[in-house]
Amino acid sequence: MRPDGAEEIRVFHRCGGCGKKREFLNSGKFRVNANGKNVDVWLIYRCAKCKHSWNLTVYERTRPGKIPRALFEAFEQNDAETARSFGGDMNFLKRNHAEFR
Ligand SMILES: [Zn+2]
Repeated sequence: MRPDGAEEIRVFHRCGGCGKKREFLNSGKFRVNANGKNVDVWLIYRCAKCKHSWNLTVYERTRPGKIPRALFEAFEQNDAETARSFGGDMNFLKRNHAEFR
């Protein structure tokens, strides 16, 4: 339980490694990739069984200037609190087609 009471949401996804629906765990790591003038940002989840990675889109082809500077730095530093807050964000998870059981 986090100090603010919010908890991460358990997510399931068809694993490209196992070939089965598995629980995926928040790795706490972001991946930031520059793509011309735009950036992509993902939060990486890993299969609880085989560690196969699943990248959940945080920002897609977005001008870095559109992302709040502190947030962008949090991505680059793999800020644990920021990763946890995405892990508890139902809209973010649904956008990425996460399943919940
Ligand atoms: Zn797997």
